[in-house]
Amino acid sequence: MVKPVAVSGVQPSGEIHIGNYLGAIKQFVELQEKYQTYFFIVDLHALTENPDPQKLREQTISLAALYLACGLNPKKTTLFIQSHVPAHTELGWILNTLTPLGELQRMTQFKDKSEKHGVLAGLLNYPTLMAADILLYRPEVVPVGEDQVQHLELTRTLARKFNSKYGKTFIEPRALVEKDVARVMGLDDPTKKMSKSAANPNNYINISDSPDVIRKKIKVAVTDSGSEIKYDLQTKLGISNLLSIYSVFSGNSIKSIEFKYSGKNYGIFKSDLSELLVEKLSPIQKKYESFLKNKKSLMKILDDGSKKANKTAEKTLKDVREKIGLI
Ligand code: ATP
Ligand code: MG
Repeated sequence: MVKPVAVSGVQPSGEIHIGNYLGAIKQFVELQEKYQTYFFIVDLHALTENPDPQKLREQTISLAALYLACGLNPKKTTLFIQSHVPAHTELGWILNTLTPLGELQRMTQFKDKSEKHGVLAGLLNYPTLMAADILLYRPEVVPVGEDQVQHLELTRTLARKFNSKYGKTFIEPRALVEKDVARVMGLDDPTKKMSKSAANPNNYINISDSPDVIRKKIKVAVTDSGSEIKYDLQTKLGISNLLSIYSVFSGNSIKSIEFKYSGKNYGIFKSDLSELLVEKLSPIQKKYESFLKNKKSLMKILDDGSKKANKTAEKTLKDVREKIGLI
């Protein structure tokens, strides 16, 4: 039986945090059993943040090691670097020619990020390149956090538009969003999502944070007035976020955690949460270190992945070129 396809990527724009892990990478690992999967490192997208070149190189390698440490298996999944498959940029350009400017200008990510970086054309065109990343592999599902759902809607619109203009070419993929952890919030400001590119390092817990750093960040995490450990998105955004994180890492329901900490203070809850994170992240960290040490085999995995990805992507692109009239 031919397996359905799943596709997704993460930017090497900083270190991977628990939001990326819970919202995206953990799902990738689960999907590789039942789907034919393509997971990549979207380095061209990371350029929209104008990174330092050396830092970009290091973060790209580091993300590859982290993918593997989290459980992606190169025997099951095609793991590669976006810029190693030129079809992404070519299809991205073609899709730009079908995309009204207004569609791109109304994207939340564009509005948020252009406040920080100024209005860069690359930031504006991020969603069309992302649509190309996805559509090339004709996937059924795209595992993402909630912040990317709007971009995925545009991907579906572009697939539909292309298909109706030039004949059936693309599948309209659907977003696969993990309900409980679709939007892990920033620890320093629980009204905004946790982000790699946040200016304040107390915004995120990185997968590679040491026990002391984890303890310190959880200790200073913003909580709410009052003292009750209770899930309430109206009045207790900070504690609700910490409860969600506790719940997914422990496998216990929010209700049972509320019960466990009834009558106890924030300090005890936070200290237990830190120890839980230290315990759950340390096996990933050990594997991460060992993958990072073996850079040659890491590069070989990425090379093999890009060969496979290029084959699939080129096939789709050939079909597209013919349909739109390129000779
Ligand atoms: P940046 O700030 O540079 O955009 P990021 O933290 O948003 O970085 P991305 O590489 O843009 O990370 O996103 C990778 C994946 O992680 C996407 O599927 C995205 O939806 C998901 N994701 C990002 N932040 C969160 C979050 N706070 N909670 C859940 N999922 C998230
Ligand atoms: Mg992002």
